[in-house]
Amino acid sequence: MAWRFALVIDPAASDDPRSDFASTFTVIDPAAPALSVGELSTQRGDGIFESIGVVDAHAQEVGPHLERLAHSAALCDLPAPHIEQWRQAVEVAAANGPAEGEAVIKLILSRGVEHGPAPTAWVTSASAADFRPARENGIRVVTLDRGYALDVPARAPWLLLGAKTLSYAVNMAAIREAKRRGADDAIFVTSDGFVLEAPTASLILRFGDRFVTPAPTGGILHGTTQLSLFEHLEVSGFETAYETIPVADLARADAAWLVSSVRLAAPIVAIDGADIPLDAALTASVNRYLLSPRD
Ligand code: PLP
Repeated sequence: MAWRFALVIDPAASDDPRSDFASTFTVIDPAAPALSVGELSTQRGDGIFESIGVVDAHAQEVGPHLERLAHSAALCDLPAPHIEQWRQAVEVAAANGPAEGEAVIKLILSRGVEHGPAPTAWVTSASAADFRPARENGIRVVTLDRGYALDVPARAPWLLLGAKTLSYAVNMAAIREAKRRGADDAIFVTSDGFVLEAPTASLILRFGDRFVTPAPTGGILHGTTQLSLFEHLEVSGFETAYETIPVADLARADAAWLVSSVRLAAPIVAIDGADIPLDAALTASVNRYLLSPRD
């Protein structure tokens, strides 16, 4: 990833009445060291983040990403982010990233520095990888046991399962395991046999003219891409639904995608070695929509 821009935010209280937050941003060299050794995001993964897709300098779905940042902050007992301050920081990062092509803006809100200032917050912008092969040729996935039952998020909210925390070591390990098994990506399933999400994406299945995704009941992130795509599919006359999906239903899908903010819609061509049809025309039209300016 080629880092293009970074700024540190001095987080404002959520009721700060200012309308211009430029004085709370410090632009830093994205290639230079910036964090304190006492930083709790690096010591413990104790913080939250968002990855926003950017197309031709337009940051996509900023409102839903900031809402999810606020939701993650609430789940993690972090101070509520000042939404207008973060919106302005995203605007500055988008304006200072690549003018053309795809990029990614990351927002990070950390618990802060041990025995020091808290919280710490920063925003980065970088060029995105070329995801055309995944979007056009599709990806092979394997199902991996997430190690908990469907009711665990409600029984153990301290596991922070619905928050986008910086503790992604498990998610990255799952992708490595998928690759060891000859696949490109994974679908997490519960120990009692229900479908969840991918380590960095939401799952959408098509059954006839119905598009279905696992219900975000606390165990998974509510994907901004899935939300936006469901709206688009509804306008296009399709039915959409949130459901509790047994693993056995994966084999019945007429088509399936992993969707996320930067890779966008990657069609799934095989699950656990069983082929899934690739709907090339629908996938291309979905990705055209996802690449169009969205707010
Ligand atoms: N689920 C997980 C675990 C993720 O990490 C992500 C994105 O990074 C998603 C789902 C998809 O979310 P979005 O569409 O907002 O990128």
